[in-house]
Amino acid sequence: MNPIEDFINLFYKEKLNEFGMKWPDKQTFNIDFNDVERYDIELSKKIIDDPINILGEFEGVLRKWTFPYEVCNWNPRVGFYNTKHGVAIRDMRCEHINTLISVSGLVQKITIVYPKLVIASFECMRCGHVTYVVQIDNRYIEPLECEGELCGRKGPFKLLHKESTFYDTQKLRVQESPEDLTGGDQPQTTDIEICGDMTGNILPGNRINVTGILQSFQKISQTHGKTNQFELMVNGIHVQHHDIEMKIELTEQDKEDIETFSKQKNVAAKLSDLFATSIYGYEEIKEAILVSSVSGENTIKSDGTLQRGYTNLLICGDPSTAKSTLLTALKQIIPQSQFATGDGSTKAGLTAAVVKDDFSGGKWTLEAGALVLADKSVAIIDELDKISSDQITQLNTSLSSNTVFINKAGINSTLWTRCPIICAMNPKSGRFDPDETLASQVKLRPDTLSRFDLVFLMRDIPSENVDSNIADILIGSWCADSSTKNNDFIKKYMYVASKIKYVEVNLEAKKLIKNYYLGIRSDYDSKSQVIPITSRNLEALLRLTRAEAKLRLSDKANVSDAQRAINLLDKSRDEIYLNDDGVFDSDRVECVNDSTQRDKIKKVKDIISSIEGGIKYSDIVLSVDYTKKNLDAILKEMISSGYICEPNDKFYKAV
Ligand SMILES: [Zn+2]
Repeated sequence: MNPIEDFINLFYKEKLNEFGMKWPDKQTFNIDFNDVERYDIELSKKIIDDPINILGEFEGVLRKWTFPYEVCNWNPRVGFYNTKHGVAIRDMRCEHINTLISVSGLVQKITIVYPKLVIASFECMRCGHVTYVVQIDNRYIEPLECEGELCGRKGPFKLLHKESTFYDTQKLRVQESPEDLTGGDQPQTTDIEICGDMTGNILPGNRINVTGILQSFQKISQTHGKTNQFELMVNGIHVQHHDIEMKIELTEQDKEDIETFSKQKNVAAKLSDLFATSIYGYEEIKEAILVSSVSGENTIKSDGTLQRGYTNLLICGDPSTAKSTLLTALKQIIPQSQFATGDGSTKAGLTAAVVKDDFSGGKWTLEAGALVLADKSVAIIDELDKISSDQITQLNTSLSSNTVFINKAGINSTLWTRCPIICAMNPKSGRFDPDETLASQVKLRPDTLSRFDLVFLMRDIPSENVDSNIADILIGSWCADSSTKNNDFIKKYMYVASKIKYVEVNLEAKKLIKNYYLGIRSDYDSKSQVIPITSRNLEALLRLTRAEAKLRLSDKANVSDAQRAINLLDKSRDEIYLNDDGVFDSDRVECVNDSTQRDKIKKVKDIISSIEGGIKYSDIVLSVDYTKKNLDAILKEMISSGYICEPNDKFYKAV
């Protein structure tokens, strides 16, 4: 008996009989490579070295299989998994061509599923004889000459669609997973083609492991035709989804150190001290970054809606306040995270896009941006102010429901962005003006801004004491290596913390949060209509409380975690929500004009409209006590919204 037939009989008889029932819904019969090795190590080596022929032999054996029931058009494909012959994308070489390899990575883009001609049937237009030609190398191959008896002429031939065999085909571009990269390496990519029942199940942002044959295709140049350069492509025979596979190994000593560290008081603060040591101060911002980056796990509420567990954090700051350094430091301790800038280096931008490019020979492809690639890890976005306006709506859904919807050119997809989103941005005019609302100074719409759980300002305010400390630390960081040691520890610590899945909030902690919320809500002043806190803040508090517990490596959040979360929110509110009268005002983030600003605008409006014929700028200045900058901004806004006009320079009139 043929050894392959013997192997199938020994190991896969029952499975094959079950598989036949599912045909043709299932088309690929998967074989565990471990079984082949157990059966015959020589056969397993042949599969690796000469997969094209051996796969053909396996498929030949399957085709001849007789079932105890009827199976129509039986023509299965064979897939192997667990081959252990993994090759990193950057290590693919000539020696791997035409061998069976397995590749892991993050799906960057996919084409739509399209039919590919595999066996073409040609009719000779002169004698009517039909010739079959197997199509290889992604080319369209016609018969050299008619195989009809007594004909032998060179066509012309007509392709018979109905008699030809097509496979559903899909091309994927897969990039190296960030956790597999060291230092600042840019991820490399490879293209993978899959067919049949493997197609249609993979989305950008998925982490997959593909077993396939590495094949080379001759590059065709538009000017010179065929070239002597070949491109590599993996012809996939088995695809498997997988989770983030961190290669962080913890020694017994590491485990002990982490355990001891987690038992201290104020763990979060101590951890923040170790984080980004080259930056002085900003303790709360550092804690907010660490807490946010371990937050996570969405839950489904009883009414079926999604409850977001991931925290969104925004740091707005004057230029040169080391925002980028903080974000880079975070990337270093969370290797699986995605780091990107708001302008997006790819066509997909920050979220995802449907694009037409060379990748698929002009077909539409769905390409993932940083947020989609960050699914199940952490998204770190610098220069969020550079995001294009057409991506804002997608960013909003990502921030609130961790998804991105795409509907264009027949591609209709929902992509996941299940991750904390940690962003930094510059103010519109270069520096922050304490007299202006946050919403009016950042290039984000209020509805986007309000989707951040925490917003911090990093101001560059000179102070001798602080400056001297900053200088000491900066100079120290050029010669010390303690930061490498810190980074190593904190990386391992954060890895252990992120492994904690669901955190329970205890009764005492819930009570504290509720009382805090109700306490602030009761400050509501119906006259000025200042809303001090919203239910969004309440949800943010619960998320932060859970994440604080994770930083202590606990799956039970207690009252101290809730208190730390409240402190962070308070600090964030202090900077962002406090209006000029020292009153908390959520309008300050959510609306461009907070209530104080609204009152000021009203006053200026009253002054201008009270004098028929108009009023000089200098006279307005006499009637109000606002800063020049503030007054100018108010006048500018009133002109643009059509309340007043400026018929002469520095002369205003009600419209
Ligand atoms: Zn012919």
